[in-house]
Amino acid sequence: MDYFFTEEQQFMKDVAKEIADKKIRPVAAEYDESCEFPWPIVEAIAEADLFRVFIEDKYDGMAGDTGVMNMCLVTEELSKACGGISLAFAATGLGTFPIIISGSEEQKQKYLPQIASGKKLAAFALTEANAGSDAAGMQTRAVLDGNEYILNGTKQWITNGGEADIYTVFCVTDPARGPRGVSCIVVEKGTPGFSFGKKENKLGIRASATRELVFQDCRVPAENVLGRPGTGFFTAMKTFDMSRPGVASQALGIAQGALDLAVNYSRERRQFGAPISSFQGLRFMLADMAMKVEAARALIYSTARWIDSSKGKRATMYSAMCKCFASDVAMEVTTDAVQVFGGYGYMKEYPVEKMMRDAKITQIYEGTNQIQRDEIGRGLVSAAAGRD
Ligand SMILES: Cc1cc2nc3c(=O)[nH]c(=O)nc-3n(C[C@H](O)[C@H](O)[C@H](O)COP(=O)(O)OP(=O)(O)OC[C@H]3O[C@@H](n4cnc5c(N)ncnc54)[C@H](O)[C@@H]3O)c2cc1C
Repeated sequence: MDYFFTEEQQFMKDVAKEIADKKIRPVAAEYDESCEFPWPIVEAIAEADLFRVFIEDKYDGMAGDTGVMNMCLVTEELSKACGGISLAFAATGLGTFPIIISGSEEQKQKYLPQIASGKKLAAFALTEANAGSDAAGMQTRAVLDGNEYILNGTKQWITNGGEADIYTVFCVTDPARGPRGVSCIVVEKGTPGFSFGKKENKLGIRASATRELVFQDCRVPAENVLGRPGTGFFTAMKTFDMSRPGVASQALGIAQGALDLAVNYSRERRQFGAPISSFQGLRFMLADMAMKVEAARALIYSTARWIDSSKGKRATMYSAMCKCFASDVAMEVTTDAVQVFGGYGYMKEYPVEKMMRDAKITQIYEGTNQIQRDEIGRGLVSAAAGRD
């Protein structure tokens, strides 16, 4: 299918594919086992200028007018080889979007070029032990003291935690105002009072670092607040509008990777004197997998293009559709890929069991799929009310 990419997009996709094929795929299983952070691959991604693709040109980026779409294309290609390693890239996008959305000119000048060059990774810190889906229930506090905020609290399960240098941290600055009392503050690694908890041992995306961020009387300049104090929750929601197609692309890449392996295996594996691909029952499975993958891709690309071209408009419902649909597809397709491989698919010697484990998280983070369905339902009902 021709999705009419620009020349630049085709180029960045090709570059990402080369990194996926030559640098990620050969080591994906090792990283899955060791859980080490994939710094050599992050460096290759940086050298290939791929951290620039979602950052505006004037801050050393090369997003042009298609930053979200670019982000999706690169994430998809990298995720075909490993959904955990690709996350170092995608989560940097997630951590950067609050700066792109709500940062002042000075803040953008300060942080975006460092991220664009790949010298510094970013991370997005919203979740806490008692504030997951109900993120507005967060308890991390920031109290203004002169021209500094003093932060206290703990963020949980932060991707790129400990490895990133730049953290967009959501905290309560005015407890009386509920979600309108939440602010987003940039906190840099190395700030006194900012430390990291244990690295989580996970089912999948094991090359990705998932850690606690601990703030104990951590003093941060008040000028690090993104936008006006109290607008943090709005920034978080707008971030998700831009980032959920990225999670969807991670899911899409994992699903496509599994489908490709399943098709190839079906041609090689022989039973009853014939390749298993000759059995119609198996071909039907492959056909269902391929239809779902292509439908996810079409939804993601059209949503990403719409977000890029309708700057400022809320895309909540369609972003939620992308994330929810593509992640459900990834779970189904990777599970079916294991089935196509039979018993071999269940073994660690073959890559499809890892893909099934990696796919699962895409149904959970950046809002579980129950929360996405809720968003979609709300969007439908409020659109209908607007038509009344
Ligand atoms: C590996 C990993 C990486 C992560 N990375 C980050 C990160 O970088 N930054 C960050 O801020 N967070 C991150 N998270 C946190 C993630 O976004 C949350 O786990 C997710 O939002 C769900 O919150 P929870 O786990 O507390 O589940 P809960 O909110 O406790 O939900 C439990 C179950 O209840 C359901 N549920 C909850 N509320 C509703 C409702 N209203 N209607 C219907 N069902 C509901 C959920 O769908 C789920 O099935 C990460 C999590 C993991 C596991």
